[in-house]
Formats: sequence, C-alpha cells, structure tokens
Amino acid sequence: MRAVSLFLLVTALTFCIAAAPAQAAQTTSSRQTGQSAKKTPERKKTAQGTQKSSGKARTTRKQNAQKPRQGQKAQSPANADALLEQLGLTVKTIMIDAGHGGRDPGAQAFGITEKDFTLALAARLGETLRKRGFRIIYTRTDNRYVGLQERPDAANAKKADLFISVHANSNPNPAHKGLETYYLAETKSHDALTVAARENGVAPQEISDLQFILTDLLLSSKVKESRHLAECVQSGMLAALRKAGTSTPDNGVRGAPFRVLMGARMPAILAEFGYISNKEEAANLKKDGYLQKLCDGLANGIVKYKQDLAAQTPG
Ligand SMILES: [Zn+2]
Repeated sequence: MRAVSLFLLVTALTFCIAAAPAQAAQTTSSRQTGQSAKKTPERKKTAQGTQKSSGKARTTRKQNAQKPRQGQKAQSPANADALLEQLGLTVKTIMIDAGHGGRDPGAQAFGITEKDFTLALAARLGETLRKRGFRIIYTRTDNRYVGLQERPDAANAKKADLFISVHANSNPNPAHKGLETYYLAETKSHDALTVAARENGVAPQEISDLQFILTDLLLSSKVKESRHLAECVQSGMLAALRKAGTSTPDNGVRGAPFRVLMGARMPAILAEFGYISNKEEAANLKKDGYLQKLCDGLANGIVKYKQDLAAQTPG
C-alpha cells in the first residue's frame, strides 16, 4: 500500500512540476491539472456537503469521487521538485565525461587521438543536450589529466542526475567496428573485459581484482537504471544513424568493471562511439555530420529515458 500511495503522490507531483515555468515542455492538459490543484475552496465545500441531507448525498459522493487527487496536491512545486530529485525521478543535470586527457592519450589510430576526439565530442554532445533543455557540466574542458576516480566523484559532488563518459574504441583486429554502450557490472565476457581493461589502463589479467571489489560497490550503484539508460542511448544512436541512411554494427549494451563508473551515485554509462582502429569507422568519426547524428541519437535516448522515468510504476 505504501508503494501505491507513494506512486500516486509522485504522479500528482509530476503534474505539478510539469506546470512549473522552469519546465519548457509542458502540455495543455498538465497545465490544467496544475491549475485545478489550487482550487482548495471547492474541496472545503465538498467536505461540508457530505454532512448535509441524504437527498444530496449521491451528488456529494459523485463530487468527491471526481476530486480524489486534489488532497494529494498540497505540496508546493519546490517541495515536489525536491522529492522527485530525491527519488531519482527526474533528469536535469548531466555530467559529460570526455575520456582520457593530458598524459593519458587513450587509443590512437588513423590520425585520431582518443583524448582529443572525446574532448571535441563532449563539447558537441553537451551543446546538443543543452538545446534539449538539460543542464550540462563537464569533468574536463581542456587537455588535462583527470583521474578515473575523480570523475564520478565530481559528478557526485555536483549532484548530477546522469553521468555519461564518452570514448572511442580500438582493437588489434582492424575489422572490428560498431557501437557499444556499457554500464557497471561484473562480466565473464572476454570482449567486454578487454575494453574495460584498456579504458582502465590495466592489463586484462589485472581486472579480476576490480571484479572482486565490485560486488560491494554494485550494491550502492544504480545498476538497473544504468542498464536502462545504456539501452536507451544505444538504440537512440543506432536509430539516428539508420534514419540518416548510414549504419554501423550494433555491438549491444554490456556490463563491465569500468573504473570511471565506480562510485557514481547516479545512473552512469560509458559510450564507445566506434572503433578508430577500423579505417572506415575512423573516417566516419572525423565527419561532423556523422558525429552530430550520434549526438542527436544519444540525446534522443536520454529524453526517452527521462520519459520512461516519469511513466514508471513502482513494483
Ligand atoms: Zn577511452
């Protein structure tokens, strides 16, 4: 019962938020609902009506039945906003993490150095998301080294709602190409472990130590939400490419022990935008149009995730 009550409250509060001026994308129906919440005198009148003669009882009961939500909307929009944030049911601030930087160049191939690629990509993605109404913060905005643990720590300190780490992939096999999006999890997949080891800057065999400490960390991280965010982002990017008449293989959504995702208290993912070790993909990743499609698709994925959050029902 408590879960149902909470859901009703959150649903009602979501309408309040939609009616607030800060939310650009509001609908007529949600605005009307928000206005009706202010009609407290009507509620008082209805309550008085229940004590009147039996002749009016049927009408009064009908009036009461039509106004079940009004009593749940006593919270001010500011309180509602705070509650939605506490419950993790809103997405406002997104921390974008440009992978690598400074003394850590990341992958290098076909004239692309990953740390430069991710810095430009983060700026493009940030601008794309800003235009969609999100508040954007970055772990770095220049060619500096930022430790892997400092990145989720910064997202926690700034109270980001989502953490998105952007990267380019690399593989000794030049035929390897495609998109993949990761969330923090243990894995037995050799491919996923290989990518995580490279991004963590350790040898693949050393990663078993990380998997060992991961069990405790996963209890406090938002694994389910992160996986869903990764799914939304991965399909958003692939759909955007398809729509533009281009494509790359869908390598799927995978869990792996990435250092940069460890300790993040919000849904956190790592997106690999393609293999710069593949000649064709490297050429695409140098094109503004191709990158913008990926950023638009990723933004569509985040919007979808946010809509799913608003529509979710507990249990
Ligand atoms: Zn990387």
